[in-house]
Amino acid sequence: MTTQHPTAALHVLFLSAEVFPFAKTGGLADVAGSLPKAIRRLGHDIRIVMPRYGFIDPARWALEEIISELPVPFGEGTEPARIYVARHNEVPVYMVDNARFFHREQIYAYPDDAERFLYFSRAALELARHLNWAPHIVHCNDWHTALVPNWLKVVYRDDPFWQRTRTVYTIHNLAYQGVFDGHVLALAGLADQGFIVHPAFPHWQRVVHFMARGIIFADMITTVSPRYAREILTPEFGAGLDPLLRERADSLVGILNGIDVEVWNPATDTLIAQPYDVERLEKREVNKQVLQEQAGLPVDAGVPLLGFIGRLTEQKGVDLLVAVADAVVQHLNGQMIILGTGEAKWHEALQSTAQRYPRHVKVFLTFNNPLAHAIYAGVDMLLMPSRFEPCGLNQMIAMRYGAVPVVREVGGLADTVQDFDPRSGEGNGFTFGTYAVEAFLTAIVRAVENWKYATTWRRLQERGMRTDVSWTRSALQYVDVYRQALRTSGDMPAPLREKLSFVPLSEGT
Ligand code: ADP
Repeated sequence: MTTQHPTAALHVLFLSAEVFPFAKTGGLADVAGSLPKAIRRLGHDIRIVMPRYGFIDPARWALEEIISELPVPFGEGTEPARIYVARHNEVPVYMVDNARFFHREQIYAYPDDAERFLYFSRAALELARHLNWAPHIVHCNDWHTALVPNWLKVVYRDDPFWQRTRTVYTIHNLAYQGVFDGHVLALAGLADQGFIVHPAFPHWQRVVHFMARGIIFADMITTVSPRYAREILTPEFGAGLDPLLRERADSLVGILNGIDVEVWNPATDTLIAQPYDVERLEKREVNKQVLQEQAGLPVDAGVPLLGFIGRLTEQKGVDLLVAVADAVVQHLNGQMIILGTGEAKWHEALQSTAQRYPRHVKVFLTFNNPLAHAIYAGVDMLLMPSRFEPCGLNQMIAMRYGAVPVVREVGGLADTVQDFDPRSGEGNGFTFGTYAVEAFLTAIVRAVENWKYATTWRRLQERGMRTDVSWTRSALQYVDVYRQALRTSGDMPAPLREKLSFVPLSEGT
């Protein structure tokens, strides 16, 4: 129970595996780099913790070492962590350093990811204790940090330091759940409590499901758009966890992501050829020319330029992107610029499309932030034919840069992009419903037809650029959720508790 005054400043420990500008593979880094800033500006003491990956150079970021050996419980013993802090940042960012786990080239995709991220999460809790800074809220993000609510309810249950702390667990993408072998329980110090027995999930008696534990044990759960919060309660979008999410529906809130409008600002962006704003939109044309040049495509203001940025996976609708290319080139004389990395089969499919249409299609198979900025600033339309999309940031960045989004009506895309209606003039983009090439192509054709009318198009661009895509509103909603979490008893809701039992690791099947 809390005695907090409703307006009192909160202490929030925010855990994320990636944080912009230090380490980024996608939207999680953007959120971790910008949401805490907005919450801090509301007067709360929020602090971030992330791993110090080997590629984060302490000198470049002026990291200050504050603890040389923090003992972190790991398996039977402890494993020491060195702790750095980046103070110049508006929000302090603590970094957990351990050569064995984090001195690697990439953030994810190692066979010991379970060990790496449970170690990181445990270190974050030990750090708070070392600093004698008891957070009101530990805000965990995605599977990497999902064991924290479990620990607070089990391992630290009777620890006075953690008595007032409540947890908020944010699902950024239900597709990445973190499911590992049972040995992880011993490393996490959870062998005695052990496997979870739940009638709807018999396989949990053999595996450790990080995300499910976050959902079960967190005091409040959020996800990154209201529409996705509803979608994930259904089998179609629930990625197998919908029965569990339905049991916690009362504690689940959808809050739309914002973007960092200082990082993403066409008027001050040093990564684009020609800065511009909504009053001087004609200047934007220079960026289209420069982008066409950079892509080795004919420089021509008279052809529609369509962009795509993102992970090349099933989720992002890359199959539709590949399938639509012939028609875009042959019937619309459109140019396409695609920036992304991901699965080999999509790399090959896109490369062969580019080879077929060297004067129309350019594919960059890399992760390149400056190029992403140049694309947002240069393309006429940004395509997002996602199969599912928890929130999606690209469409918001696109709008801010005067690129008109063409998106599927799903998840956060449906919450942020309204289909253009030429009669009323309402809408800020083009949308389609059915996951099919014809539906996607229809939306593209409508976009290109409207692009031909300069005044109509300019109005669409202006509406997008004037849309509030900042964190202002959503940060307040997060603070509301923090306060809701603080009002909970800290016990698991009774209906769920009655369904669950536990099997110690030693007795597991
Ligand atoms: P995700 O599902 O990957 O988190 P989001 O739309 O939420 O997708 O966020 C994607 C973020 O990553 C955006 O900031 C986008 O500009 C960036 N991004 C994705 N792929 C690339 C790439 N290949 N190069 C540069 N930036 C990228």
